[in-house]
Amino acid sequence: YKQIIAASLFLLPLIGAAQTRSAIDRKVDSVLKLMTLEEKVGQMNQYSDDGLVTGIATQDNAKDQQIRDGKLGSLLNVKGAATTRRVQEIAMQSRLKIPLLFGLDVVHGYKTTFPLPLAEAASWDLPAIENAARIAAVEAAASGIHWTFAPMVDISRDPRWGRVMEGAGEDTYLGSQIAYARVKGFQGKKLGDIDAVMACVKHFAAYGAATGGRDYNSVDMSDRMLWETYLPPFKAALDAGAATFMNSFNDLNGIPATASTYLQRDILKNKWKFTGFVVSDWGSVGEMVPHGYAANNYEAALAAIKGGSDMDMESRAYTQHLAQLVKDKKVNIALIDDAVRRILRKKFELGLFDDPYKFSNEQREKAALNNPAHEKAAREIAAKSIVLLKNENQVLPIAKSTKKIAVIGPLVKEVKQNLGFWSIEMPGDSSYIVSQWQGLVNKLGSDAQLIYAKGCGIEDTSRAGFREAIDAAMQADVVIMSIGERRDMSGEAKSRAYLRIPGVQEELVKAIQATGKPLVVMINAGRPLVFDWISDHVPAIMYTWWLGSQAGNAIADVLFGDYNPSGKLPMTFPRTEGQIPIYYNYFNTGRPARDDNDKNYRSAYIDLSLYPKYAFGYGLSYTGFAYSNFKLSKSSMKPNETITVSIDIKNSGKYAGEEIVQLYLRDKVGSVVRPVKELKDFKKIMLQPGETKTVTFIINRDKLSFYNAQLQWVAEPGEFEVMIGASSADIKAAQNLQLVR
Ligand code: BGC
Repeated sequence: YKQIIAASLFLLPLIGAAQTRSAIDRKVDSVLKLMTLEEKVGQMNQYSDDGLVTGIATQDNAKDQQIRDGKLGSLLNVKGAATTRRVQEIAMQSRLKIPLLFGLDVVHGYKTTFPLPLAEAASWDLPAIENAARIAAVEAAASGIHWTFAPMVDISRDPRWGRVMEGAGEDTYLGSQIAYARVKGFQGKKLGDIDAVMACVKHFAAYGAATGGRDYNSVDMSDRMLWETYLPPFKAALDAGAATFMNSFNDLNGIPATASTYLQRDILKNKWKFTGFVVSDWGSVGEMVPHGYAANNYEAALAAIKGGSDMDMESRAYTQHLAQLVKDKKVNIALIDDAVRRILRKKFELGLFDDPYKFSNEQREKAALNNPAHEKAAREIAAKSIVLLKNENQVLPIAKSTKKIAVIGPLVKEVKQNLGFWSIEMPGDSSYIVSQWQGLVNKLGSDAQLIYAKGCGIEDTSRAGFREAIDAAMQADVVIMSIGERRDMSGEAKSRAYLRIPGVQEELVKAIQATGKPLVVMINAGRPLVFDWISDHVPAIMYTWWLGSQAGNAIADVLFGDYNPSGKLPMTFPRTEGQIPIYYNYFNTGRPARDDNDKNYRSAYIDLSLYPKYAFGYGLSYTGFAYSNFKLSKSSMKPNETITVSIDIKNSGKYAGEEIVQLYLRDKVGSVVRPVKELKDFKKIMLQPGETKTVTFIINRDKLSFYNAQLQWVAEPGEFEVMIGASSADIKAAQNLQLVR
């Protein structure tokens, strides 16, 4: 009797949840019952509007009429409280008054622009990353947006692929943690809250493994690799409650992801029990025609709906053919009903049936878009995203009392460049964006003598500006240079075969270096670039990515020591393009190289080092950290036990600072070959000068597990190496651990 009570108490919350779910499901069914086939198909249809460009959404009569006819479920690229309200009013003239969903790529901020997602990943600061997504959601939701097409959680090991800027880098563990944080941030406490937007986890799946780093390209990989390396961030995002998924442009082992029943039905909807909906990527349904998978849009629509794509973004294949496919008995109406239910459920959860205008409130919008706390948060995470790659002769931090500072390079005075790719420009005034120059002026006031010279343009071939730049350097006590990519050189469809710094910028650095002045070079880019000469010759290098609307202030904070840099690279930096793909968690061959001079047994190049320029997890601080007293609570464990790993970290320098302590594991012998090391945990800690803290990690069965050849998640008995590192290449301590039966 007692057991029954205990069991039913335990079940109560579940029953409660089931009841609320079914209340919404009942509402969904009651709407579905009223819908014609054409109206159902309408819900599965999404168009883009040019409102983003013109600010006057849907002045297009044909589109307006489609909305009135109930033939559109969602619009993307419409924004602003007033505009979304006006468009929603059109939907309210339709027969069933089903509200529209407004989607937008709010990738790293709405008005307040945060660092690129890859840059933010370099902070390894999960609360700060979640907060950035939270603020983006607050601003976007107040502007009438219901749905962001983010986070992008594609793992990528290829910096030639321009979209690495949009993800969290190469590592599955770090990527999964960040995916979880971003979804939590976007969706807030719960959907339906006035400041929550739906997340859309993309691109499902394996898009980041495009062959040759060429965008949209084919992916051919083993199931084991898919499950172990590429899928976990998607699962983490789902565990965080992600409302929607987006499929991807690539084919995976010959099947376009848009038509993949394996990905969208078997894994996502069946195995993972995803109850939200899947939107296609832009035009990806129709693209199955040129891809050579469907003869025409009719067949493409058939393949996509069978594959589990619920909404068609911009192909028009669903509106044109789905109803006919049902009439031709090629598609069972149950498939359509399932997709429509999934879409309507989200509209109910957002509360749009109760009040279709709830997110379109101009007063709230005005307040949200002018909140100084948002810019403050952007400045903080921007500083945390900077990675200090080199600091010889203690060039950094620069003393604020320095008399003359030369500031040289094509990016110094740029304003909008700092927003990077996938940013949203607000109409009109861009004075809220802090250029790098402005950041220095803000920091030093008008007394400091800043001497500016552009030197060259980003892609210039002319050296005409070098003389002026050299003269500026000659007059200065310290020189700061800002060089890099243009912001639209990384992003969608921005694959690059050469990862050099464009134009004559590197030559400009050589010319300035030759003056012998203390020199700091800042590299702005959306991906790891190749800059061997600079790495080898310039004493101080900061990787500043694209840091968003507070770039200038954040950079000045780091340059002058108001923030001690703590970022660590979320991707390996190659020495040259020929090393790609290069990543830290590779498998050894049977002839592993011991070092670059080991000529006999190396699976290496005869003409280049094996090792990257900068390793995954690498980044310096103005202070030093000493690691000591590494302990495992036991040297062997059974699968159902855990052990505690601990290590003391001491701040051995004179600046307060943060260290990112990394736990790596290696399974020494496995039934399938295991990586030389894998990140399994990390902690970011703050230490005052002289202070010591003990960092602990727990190792459990899960951390020792992997997918075996039968795709079972197993922890195999045997020897493991437990490593603590300041980066993947800088292992400070290691010990063996036995897993016993
Ligand atoms: C991109 C998506 C994006 C969509 C809408 C596509 O080209 O691949 O990531 O969400 O456009 O802008």
